[in-house]
Amino acid sequence: MQVLVPALVLAMVLGVAVPRAALASEALRVVTTFTVLEDLTRQVAGERAEVVTLTPAGAEVHEWELKPRNFMALEHADLVFYNGFNLEQWMHQVRAVVADGVPVVALAERSGYPTRPIVAGDFEGAPDPHLWMDVRAAREYVRTIREALEEADPGGAAGYRRRAADFKERLDALHDEVVRELERVPAQRRLLVTSEAAFVYFAAAYDFRHDGIWGSNAEQEGTPRQLMRVIDLVNEWEPPALFWESTISDRYVRSVASETGTRVAGPLYVDSVSASSGEAPDYISMMRFNARLVANELGVDER
Ligand SMILES: [Zn+2]
Repeated sequence: MQVLVPALVLAMVLGVAVPRAALASEALRVVTTFTVLEDLTRQVAGERAEVVTLTPAGAEVHEWELKPRNFMALEHADLVFYNGFNLEQWMHQVRAVVADGVPVVALAERSGYPTRPIVAGDFEGAPDPHLWMDVRAAREYVRTIREALEEADPGGAAGYRRRAADFKERLDALHDEVVRELERVPAQRRLLVTSEAAFVYFAAAYDFRHDGIWGSNAEQEGTPRQLMRVIDLVNEWEPPALFWESTISDRYVRSVASETGTRVAGPLYVDSVSASSGEAPDYISMMRFNARLVANELGVDER
């Protein structure tokens, strides 16, 4: 009796390179630059695509060197999502690895959501890249993700549309929840001071005054000039607390706090979600966590 060995299995056993198209489970491979985009993309892609992030949870997204596993992911990518507006200073490295013809999509730029300028430092006046900190902008990221997935994988369109619509509803509810949570902070206490001034869109959406020790993590961090500027600002505004962010050391905020006699709170999650076992492992929990922390720290003590 003749034993039939499928050619594909035989090729794998013999270690012969198998063209990707021959593999049974050929999911679309989507590479994202950081964990926030990874989560937003997963929400739309569901099981239909394989989604990975280049920078892991807790990493600094502004400055990054590609690791060996990043090269592997990029070499096999069908689609690449990044934020744009110069968030990822290292996109030239990505472009050098990705195969010709693979779409590399700047979600923030393609979304068309109106930008706001970086408020301080070397890059002052350039479009601030942290659009996702306004939940309504994240909604536009989701639309942009859905469009790009549909283009790359028309067969999955119905699923992408359904999941994007469901997720947008959850984002609408999240936006309302953030607004409600922050209602606990009276107008004169709506002063949000952080390490990186990354809350430009958050502040505009939820009605806060905002500044940071530095304008962008792409510049040098914690220079005497930056510290002097923000100490003057804190003395003038007198915010109830200063905040640090999960991807940045709290040492500069602590030195500003001790100079000005202000309390320190944190971390807030901006450039990364937390580890999966942490307090803010995805976009929705991150924004919910931030709103609650800000409300608890800046709101009036009702005890
Ligand atoms: Zn940032």
